Amino acid sequence: MEALQQHYREALAARIDALETARSSHIDGDTDALESIKRVAHTLKGSGGTFGFPEITAAAEAVGLAGSGALVEKVDTLLAILHEVMQGGEARLHELLVIEDEPVAAKILQTRLEQNGYLVHMAKTGAEAEALLEQEQISLVLLDLILPDMDGRNFLVKLRERPKYAALPLMVTSGQSGSTTKAECFALGADGFFEKPLDLDTLMAAVAAKLQRSGEIIREARTDPLTQLPNRAALHEAFQRAQSAAVRSHESMALAILDIDHFKAVNDTHGHATGDKVLRRVAELLVETARQTDMVARWGGEEFVILYPKATQSGASQALDKSLLIFRSESFSGEEGESFNVSFSAGVVEVEKSATLEEAVAEADHLLYLAKESGRNRVLTHQSAVVPAVKKVLLAEDDDIVASVVKSHLERDGFEIVHFLDGAEALRAAAELEVKLAILDIKMPGLDGFQLLASLRKMPAYQDIPIVILTSMGSEEDIVRGFKLGADDYIMKPFSPVELLARIRRLVKS
Ligand code: GH3
Ligand code: MG
Ligand code: MG
Ligand code: MG
Repeated sequence: MEALQQHYREALAARIDALETARSSHIDGDTDALESIKRVAHTLKGSGGTFGFPEITAAAEAVGLAGSGALVEKVDTLLAILHEVMQGGEARLHELLVIEDEPVAAKILQTRLEQNGYLVHMAKTGAEAEALLEQEQISLVLLDLILPDMDGRNFLVKLRERPKYAALPLMVTSGQSGSTTKAECFALGADGFFEKPLDLDTLMAAVAAKLQRSGEIIREARTDPLTQLPNRAALHEAFQRAQSAAVRSHESMALAILDIDHFKAVNDTHGHATGDKVLRRVAELLVETARQTDMVARWGGEEFVILYPKATQSGASQALDKSLLIFRSESFSGEEGESFNVSFSAGVVEVEKSATLEEAVAEADHLLYLAKESGRNRVLTHQSAVVPAVKKVLLAEDDDIVASVVKSHLERDGFEIVHFLDGAEALRAAAELEVKLAILDIKMPGLDGFQLLASLRKMPAYQDIPIVILTSMGSEEDIVRGFKLGADDYIMKPFSPVELLARIRRLVKS
């Protein structure tokens, strides 16, 4: 079955193409397109069951029966299923559980279900059924009401009490045809009721329809409504599958997280609706440029995660670089027709064999942070990321409280503060330090700020770095003297930490 399915999957690509083309022509008003759609649907309907994809059969049937109003919607459902089958190299067969103690009835059901492409597990008692539910990935249950060890209705009650099985599709097959029994079963949570002797064709149609509907619900819960991309929950599952496949095949797998640059400004300047448009376009572009096997998911807000099975980090980052190139060259138009461009930043890592999704994302997120820090609009890997040198700041300040305010604000900006309580101590240590900036208090015991400033400017390493002096209110002549001795700026105490940070950022940059 596996080999057959693989073959079928390969042939699907052409059908998907044909269907997508016909779909757009139909929307554009081409009257011949309807014929093509129905023809492709018909061929798919025939083969779905044979190859073990009953959901394709059911969806293709729905296209065949659809009136013009519902056609596009049905085609979209079919396409979604086809894409899913194509992508899932390991697409799972639907596993069904049949609980039936009567051997002949059991055999007939099993044979017919297997013919329709399902993987069937058989249980003769309630106890056996419970064990199978735990062990196997059951998508639907067919339950006989009279069992050797319990009444089927009690089985149903017990099942529905458990959150895990509360929504599991279940249909009752029963020799008791009374309407009371039937009503009772529905009240207890059955999704269908079929009287024996069973009309197998009707039962098969009902099973397929139910599975298709529950598949749609599952798909909906895993899709981000804005971008139609898989959401975080869906990514979790895909990651698990891809990770075990990578372990088995000894192949590498890469992961990227990307974040749109200055997206808040896009919303603020061009409106939230335009922001949404940008998000949808990034999503579309990422999917277009990705390989069939890659998975693009919306991680949250303006962040996306891409999983690249069978790829190295350099392969993945090259692919993402291409997307960035296209993305930033596209122009968007805002609410008033103004045009603007957008870029993104990203981090790409190779996923460790034992890593969880969160761990891999955290590692990539660190590179994303470095990408933002180093100017945005770029894709970084561990190889391409240059770790920014810690920016050291010499601080000479005899007031511990002032020093700790300066320290806490600058450290958040990535500076490392080397603090001295007096001028003499600072001067002794200065030669050994390689700093980007010095902040000197004026009034200090022993060597004051002016003397320290003058001595520092004589040292080669301190000739070109910015030096800021801290002066007190009402001592304007200090400022003049400071500038004469070579200070670049002054900050008047008491100062606002925000202003301090703004000035220092400007000095360090220039
Ligand atoms: P940076 O370059 O550092 O990433 O800056 P940024 O402005 O992109 O980052 P920030 O995290 O400050 O802003 C993200 C914004 O994304 C804020 C939030 O309102 C917006 N956002 C999140 N989800 C959506 C959405 O679904 N639609 C729209 N239009 N905006 C969203
Ligand atoms: Mg963000
Ligand atoms: Mg952003
Ligand atoms: Mg002082």
